[in-house]
Amino acid sequence: MADRTTALGGGLSRERRYLAKSILGSVPRSWRRARSRIIVLCYHSVHPTNAFASATPGQFEEHMRWLREHCDVVPLREAVERSAGRRDTPAKPTVSVTFDDGYDDNFIHALPVLMQYGIKASFYVTTGFVDRDPTVVDRMRRLREMPVSALSWEQLGEIYQAGMEVGSHSITHVNLAELEPGALRAELRDSKRVLEDHLGEEIDSVAYPFGIPGRHVTARTIAEALDAGYRTGTSILYRDVRRHDHALNIPRIAVKNNTIQLLKAKIAGSLDVIGRWQEFRARGTFSVGGDGAAPPR
Ligand SMILES: [Zn+2]
Repeated sequence: MADRTTALGGGLSRERRYLAKSILGSVPRSWRRARSRIIVLCYHSVHPTNAFASATPGQFEEHMRWLREHCDVVPLREAVERSAGRRDTPAKPTVSVTFDDGYDDNFIHALPVLMQYGIKASFYVTTGFVDRDPTVVDRMRRLREMPVSALSWEQLGEIYQAGMEVGSHSITHVNLAELEPGALRAELRDSKRVLEDHLGEEIDSVAYPFGIPGRHVTARTIAEALDAGYRTGTSILYRDVRRHDHALNIPRIAVKNNTIQLLKAKIAGSLDVIGRWQEFRARGTFSVGGDGAAPPR
């Protein structure tokens, strides 16, 4: 790889050299090499007709069945722990399943499938959405360009009782990176407290709304999440979880009507080129791996 990119490098700008290297790196990876990878998948809605759905119920069932067979599907916390300390070569890639926003279809269509396959997923909910705050419901409707329906607190309680993890996805689903310090603190702390009040247990995981490093997640967001008492935090970055990743900035790969073939390619790393491009764009404003501005793991 280094030789090929060096040969291309002469006379090219830094950007072009980076792009060339990324494209060369995007050749399909072998499944055997994927065994040591740790991937966190991000779903939103699971619905038969929603245009913005991550999967139809049929697709979702197919995904979970395939994951159960070909990957080691573990709770997010375990994936994070493995990324920090694993030295052996496992038989299968490690995969965690997560959901953002808090749509009621997660309860109706996703939960039964997860239970059928014994998969412990993480559900990050926007508490103002579940509270039916009209401003938040309207924001979600505009974001998804169609009517949206939130989980009820009862449904979220059942999801939690079924052994799933529940985490915060803020109160109002705004870009946390644009908030002044007091508002950022409130989004992280109040959503945590509201979830704890409803579920009666400590909540210590968060998914940052929109989640793109540098645009929606900065070193300040992560420092504030740590201060608020969170132990894991997830973003949207198209690559696997690596040893240097901060536990409050775990990359996730979004799923959107993926065939099994594409899901497999994402897990194997064929699309990591997108993640490299994202990290390249975020450079300067933010170091995804933690640069001293972010607290230690
Ligand atoms: Zn969201």
